[in-house]
Amino acid sequence: MNDAIGCYVHIPFCVRKCAYCDFNSYSGYTDAHIARYVAALTQEIRQTTTATSVDTIFFGGGTPTAIPATDEAALLRAVLETLPIAPGAEITTEANPGTMDVAHLAVLRDAGFNRISFGVQSFDPGLLKTMDRIHSADEARNAVKAARAAGFDNVSLDLMFGLPRQTLKQWQYSLQEALALETEHLSLYSLIVEEGTGFYTLQQKGKLPLPEDDLAADMYEMAVEIASAAGYEQYEIASFARPGRECRQNRHYWRNDPYYGFGCGAVAYLDGARRMNLKSPAAYSSAVESGSDLTLSVETLTPEETMAETIMLGLRLTRDGVSRRTFEGRFGIDPRVKFAAEIETFTRRGLLELAGDSLRLTPQGVFLASEVMVAFV
Ligand code: SF4
Repeated sequence: MNDAIGCYVHIPFCVRKCAYCDFNSYSGYTDAHIARYVAALTQEIRQTTTATSVDTIFFGGGTPTAIPATDEAALLRAVLETLPIAPGAEITTEANPGTMDVAHLAVLRDAGFNRISFGVQSFDPGLLKTMDRIHSADEARNAVKAARAAGFDNVSLDLMFGLPRQTLKQWQYSLQEALALETEHLSLYSLIVEEGTGFYTLQQKGKLPLPEDDLAADMYEMAVEIASAAGYEQYEIASFARPGRECRQNRHYWRNDPYYGFGCGAVAYLDGARRMNLKSPAAYSSAVESGSDLTLSVETLTPEETMAETIMLGLRLTRDGVSRRTFEGRFGIDPRVKFAAEIETFTRRGLLELAGDSLRLTPQGVFLASEVMVAFV
């Protein structure tokens, strides 16, 4: 097993809050807020004393490209100079198409970012407006071209389905527009209305006309069909990649591997504990500046909980599933013994399969993944 782990760096700023967003992100910031936060984040990174090497680094948010490119480049430099980096590490930044141009992206590429993930969500102008996205469909197309011009050869796009009043035809259009951009990776995922979001408020008032479940299921099926026909391999429930272009950072999460986490609200999973930093950028920055504890919460998992989570997360990997040998090497018990009843139930229903070393969802099981995964926890 590869012992290198992942590293997540959080940039919490966004030009505007999207209607569906429950991430730890904030609009209405100033240059001074950014400068203070970048200084604090740099300090947190440089104070790291553990020395497990990393083979993936992921700048997420928020919108990492909402801060000056030179700041993001300096933060990456802090990571590269502090942690041991495995050769060929995957280094990703998320980006919002409305927040950068070729010159900005060239700074990031020169700094060492070798993968970029654009939150596009839709190519339909009406749906972009409904979601409160700050960019147009053309800006999304131009962003991918700008990334190519800046030297990125590993580009991902996110699209969402199950949006208010979205039709199957609109979804098909967005998928086709995304395919035309020939990115290496696609994340195609369903809207989930989270408490505290603009969409949640509308839903409470009965003003959020979401597609019926059957239509949303048809959209997912269409995504799988269209992406597969275009040569993308579905390797995770919502992720599709050209051969060899899977997101390695996310694979760490789905294998329940440890990871570093830096920044406000970031979670680090080290030594069997998940530790979350203070969420507010101001509170986080103050804590770093005064040398006080950054921790908002710590969750220490029992071996039983870790095993259940490892199965639940691993089943998201539709192609690889959970490696029985790796599981047994980590926990000292074969998952077929530990979860005999659950595996028997879902195998009999045709939703799970044991294929060689792998315990994974069947193609039919992928459509009922939540039901299967919940049974293990
Ligand atoms: S750009 Fe992303 S992180 Fe920022 S508000 Fe929109 S969905 Fe949330």
